[in-house]
Amino acid sequence: MSDDDEEKIAYLVCGRVADMHGDSIATGSIQMICGTCRELIWVSPASMDAVAQYTERRYLCIPCAIPKIKPDSKFVMTAKQQMEFLRYVSQNQSYGEFD
Ligand SMILES: [Zn+2]
Repeated sequence: MSDDDEEKIAYLVCGRVADMHGDSIATGSIQMICGTCRELIWVSPASMDAVAQYTERRYLCIPCAIPKIKPDSKFVMTAKQQMEFLRYVSQNQSYGEFD
């Protein structure tokens, strides 16, 4: 895949259905499937809005996304998503430390 193709793809990071309960699931969320491990994930309306302008979207669960996240990566994350993400990670310490 060329860099040009990479520019058009949005990666959306979502919590797994199996890992999320109650308040951590945003109202209006829909279930999708992680493109890497095929686990069911929750996609919030805010997440959908964040990638609406991209023609190609890839959905990843948080455990699959953690090894891919780097400071220079092109992940699309709104401030609200980052808060959800950090809260999720803090509640699931088994995913380990970020390096
Ligand atoms: Zn996954």
